[in-house]
Amino acid sequence: MPQPEYDVVIIGAGPAGSTTARFTAAAGLRTLLVDKRQELGAPIQCSGAISRHALEDVGIVPDDEFIHEAIYGFAIYDQTGERHVHDYRSLKPDEYGSGPGRKPLGYVVDRRRFDRYLLTQAERAGADTWLKTEGRGYTPTDDGGCTVHLRRYNQDIDVRARLLVGADGLQSQVGKWAGLQTHIKITELAGCLQFIVDRVETEGLLEIVTGHEWAPGGYAWVFPKGHGYAEIGLGVIATMTDKPARWHLDKFMTQSFFRERFADCRILEVQGGGVPLAAPLRTQYADNLILVGDAARHVNPITGGGLHTAVAGGKIAAGFITGHLEDGMPLRDGALRAYQDVWLDALGDKMWKLYGIKTDIFHNMNIRERDEQLYATMADYFSPTSEFKKI
Ligand SMILES: Cc1cc2nc3c(=O)[nH]c(=O)nc-3n(C[C@H](O)[C@H](O)[C@H](O)COP(=O)(O)OP(=O)(O)OC[C@H]3O[C@@H](n4cnc5c(N)ncnc54)[C@H](O)[C@@H]3O)c2cc1C
Repeated sequence: MPQPEYDVVIIGAGPAGSTTARFTAAAGLRTLLVDKRQELGAPIQCSGAISRHALEDVGIVPDDEFIHEAIYGFAIYDQTGERHVHDYRSLKPDEYGSGPGRKPLGYVVDRRRFDRYLLTQAERAGADTWLKTEGRGYTPTDDGGCTVHLRRYNQDIDVRARLLVGADGLQSQVGKWAGLQTHIKITELAGCLQFIVDRVETEGLLEIVTGHEWAPGGYAWVFPKGHGYAEIGLGVIATMTDKPARWHLDKFMTQSFFRERFADCRILEVQGGGVPLAAPLRTQYADNLILVGDAARHVNPITGGGLHTAVAGGKIAAGFITGHLEDGMPLRDGALRAYQDVWLDALGDKMWKLYGIKTDIFHNMNIRERDEQLYATMADYFSPTSEFKKI
């Protein structure tokens, strides 16, 4: 049987992979998008906060199909409960709000439904989508393309491609296949845990609690989830505490300034996962291969947010791939470095700057000063005048 042939094969149908696939397919490239899961986005390992402009920038219309709750601003707390509130309903009342002609600032999305929605969009744009299909490896071939080795429903299958995209998330193997340096330092990997709870009032704000006392190396959060539910979670760096995230979350819920607010809540779901608070990979390409999303560490190193950068990065990757393949440009010997340059110009330079700020904060061994710096940085980051507003 002849091998199926594609221009682009994308491993991983998270937000980065599905967005890349949607744009390459829409541009007329033969696109295959595969994911090893049988149910996308499950188990959920994400709080789902994403700004409205992040969706709009990649042409995703906010849809009840995947939205849990609208967000109108931020409340940033220090460890004692002092807070900065940036509520866009009062800062820019003509623009933001729930009334006619006003819009939310962002959303908390349901990752199961969001990922399925993005996959559907890729399929409608013309991509072939295969679930329960694991990427196992790839081999560059003499004609300048490559063979991608997949395992679909427990059967090995090879497909031909000109270019492979690794969008396979934090624990990416695709980069490793090409020998890229993808190792993440334990000092830069936040272990995150969150509870889905009821009986916790929220105000349409993303609430972020800083301070070593509650979340060493990271922060805690309370996000509205709609229909009376909320997400309470935190991320910690293992080298900054000898206790697991679960211990810190229990302490945050029972001993922090929010203890009375949380006193009656019931835990309905437990979710967790790792978040790289790290720099982008220094090399995000190899022969016939580029990486996008968490696989390339396209994650905001201060907030840990990776949804915006995944979808924005997917669009950037697809734009590059389309031009590069249509022009018949080489795919070997460093030629794909141009992808990384395009990404750096559009997003990466700001992410490197954020990484520098984060590193400066956490290199300070004085906990009180570090807490103050993180609180001020977070408060500034989420303010309407932040230079990083678009990440
Ligand atoms: C607890 C927690 C809370 C978070 N909250 C937020 C938040 O509120 N806002 C935000 O912006 N970010 C948040 N993040 C980060 C965000 O979830 C990630 O940055 C985002 O999911 C990255 O998208 P991605 O497409 O790069 O990777 P992923 O979403 O991880 O998708 C990768 C896909 O690749 C598939 N895959 C992996 N290996 C293979 C293989 N070999 N073959 C085939 N398929 C494969 C996986 O099944 C998966 O579907 C959170 C993370 C955690 C852990």
